[in-house]
Parts: sequence; structure tokens; C-alpha cells
Amino acid sequence: MGAGVFAELLSKTKPETLDAVVISHFHGDHCSDITVFNYYLQQKKKKLKLFAPVDNNTELLSSLEWFEHIETKDSSRVTIKGVTLDFFKTVHPRFCLGVSVTYNGKKFVYSADTNVCPALDKALKGADLAVIDSAFSSATYKENGPHLSAELVAGYAKRHNVKTLLSHLPPEGDVGAIESEAKKVSPLCELIDLAEYVIAD
Ligand SMILES: [Zn+2]
Ligand SMILES: [Zn+2]
Repeated sequence: MGAGVFAELLSKTKPETLDAVVISHFHGDHCSDITVFNYYLQQKKKKLKLFAPVDNNTELLSSLEWFEHIETKDSSRVTIKGVTLDFFKTVHPRFCLGVSVTYNGKKFVYSADTNVCPALDKALKGADLAVIDSAFSSATYKENGPHLSAELVAGYAKRHNVKTLLSHLPPEGDVGAIESEAKKVSPLCELIDLAEYVIAD
């Protein structure tokens, strides 16, 4: 639900028909459009479920009158329409939860924002598709920084033999360099795109 996401969602679907929205953490690039979404739901007079941590955002969360907030924590598990969501705490300056989504024996993992994270390794066991934070290249990566590097992300792809979409790409950075850095480690990596991804049987 970062900046621009709500407009993108509108171009793809009727947002009021969603079953739920998940917010990993409250950095602006992951939640700024949730207030816009709330206005939209007010117009449609439709309430949606919102899975999100609290992390000092009581005021913001209570202003979202058209969302039914369900607090997520490390190791929370929720099931909605047969889809199971397992949340895990990542390594990030702000409290942040990645999520693995299981349905019909298929598993999708979203790392949210993270640096090197043992819980992400655990979540990726048996995963079919992953979207992982690749904001940095090895040249800009820092051990105590907020994000992974493309090379490290590709390490996860390789270890777990999982198709991995490189996400959280720098808006003005060299994404080609990020992709080639990852592909050197694992051909299972590619840049994320505004596309529909299907996990086939
Ligand atoms: Zn963040
Ligand atoms: Zn972020």
C-alpha cells in the first residue's frame, strides 16, 4: 500500500472486492496509500479486513474506519477463505512482518523489508514463489542496513530452489545491475514486474 499502489490496484480490479489487505510495516513506502483506500471504501460503504502490526500506529489505525484491523505479530497465523497466512518478524529498523501465503498446497513468500533474516530462510522451505527485498547491490549493501543486496537475495533463491522476484527496486538506481548481480548467483531470479504471476500445478 505504498505510494501509487492504490491507483495501480484501481486499474486492475475493484478494490472493494478484495477479501483483505496486508501491511507489513509502517514505513511510508508500504502504507501511505492506505488512507486513500479508506476514503474509497467510505464511498463504497464497504468494510475490509486489514492485517497489520500495531507498532505505535494506534492513531493511524483507528482513523481507518473502513478497515477492520486485525493485529499481526511475529508467528501470527490467520486463515481467510482457505488461504493461510503465516507472519514472521524480519530484520529491519521498524517492526516489520514478512508473510508466507499457503493455498492448495502451494506457497508464496513475501519477505517485506529485511536484511539477512533466519526467519525468511525458514519461511522459504518448500516455497514455490518468492518476492524478496533487493533494494541494494553488493556495492551499496551494509551489514547493519535496512535491506538485502541482490547477491544475498539470489543466495536465498539458490538455497531454496525457488523462483524469486527481485522487489523494492531503487527508483533511480541501476536495476539492470541488480538483476545481473542476482542472476550470476541464481538464474531463478528476475526483476518484479507489474504482471500477474501464476503458480502452476
Ligand atoms: Zn521499511
Ligand atoms: Zn520499504
